Amino acid sequence: LTTGALIAQMLVDPVNLILRWYDEVQVAQVSLARLVGVRDIEPDAGDASLNPDGRAVHADRVHFGYREGVDVLRSVSLEVAPGTRLALVGPSGAGKSTLGRLLAGIYAPRDGRITLGGAELSRMPAERVRSHVALVNQEHHVFVGSLRDNLLLALPHSRLPTTGEGPAGSHDAELWAALGAVDADGWARALDDGLDTEVGSGGLALTPAQAQQIALARLVLADPHTLVLDEATSLLDPRAARHLERSLGRVLDGRTVVAIAHRLHTAHDADVIAVVENGRISELGSHDDLVAAEGPYAALWRSWHG
Ligand code: ADP
Ligand code: MG
Repeated sequence: LTTGALIAQMLVDPVNLILRWYDEVQVAQVSLARLVGVRDIEPDAGDASLNPDGRAVHADRVHFGYREGVDVLRSVSLEVAPGTRLALVGPSGAGKSTLGRLLAGIYAPRDGRITLGGAELSRMPAERVRSHVALVNQEHHVFVGSLRDNLLLALPHSRLPTTGEGPAGSHDAELWAALGAVDADGWARALDDGLDTEVGSGGLALTPAQAQQIALARLVLADPHTLVLDEATSLLDPRAARHLERSLGRVLDGRTVVAIAHRLHTAHDADVIAVVENGRISELGSHDDLVAAEGPYAALWRSWHG
């Protein structure tokens, strides 16, 4: 993606661009870094408090709101042990996605702390945060550029080819392996232009399932040990959804996962479930404990059962 292409897209498709601004900004940064040869700047590399020591995720009395005076999260505390799965459930608008964004370091708490391995996320450089934790949702998966650009986005700046340093395709073997890991190599290999295929608006139109696979392949490349999964009420047909589910299962394996659950089995399979209601955690425990407690989770579980 070039700056020119970004501006061109802004002119023809401003709404879509705004919806996808987060990824676009990242892409713009990558492109600029490659153009001007900027290297990672790690001003705090000597500050040990910003280097995670372990993988435990902690939220400690977190408060957050998007607007002054409107609290979305109120004193949320929780702990996720390394390698375990936490499911967030609760009514729409309760603050689950917001909490997910904070746990992934996309927003900083207004008050309280979120730490990863003891290091405070909001104080870490963005690139270091991204190497440890990633947010997976069903939004903004593909941007204008080649398939290769879409995948290289996942690699830290320090691993990207810069001007005059090796051919553009020097990571291709790694990119193909990532596509293979999410079962996307079949259709990708069938493309006439392979990784040079232009995708996004104006280029090859990917199906929602293919776009999701690209997002998962980026995860494989970025290899964060912690994932926040904001599960969507699926837009995919059942067959594509099942296929993707298998790939996702493999990607989640061995990582610490916080899953915002809209489906029975995501909650049921989690090690711990947190019920979020009106910006607070109202219940916390295992599926069996919460069903036995006959509280909000038990009611939700019954309603999900239909
Ligand atoms: P959930 O995922 O549980 O449905 P959300 O975290 O999406 O809940 O939303 C919690 C509250 O925050 C809602 O009142 C919602 O309208 C508001 N909200 C969510 N995202 C934004 C945003 N980007 N800007 C302003 N308000 C938001
Ligand atoms: Mg949500």
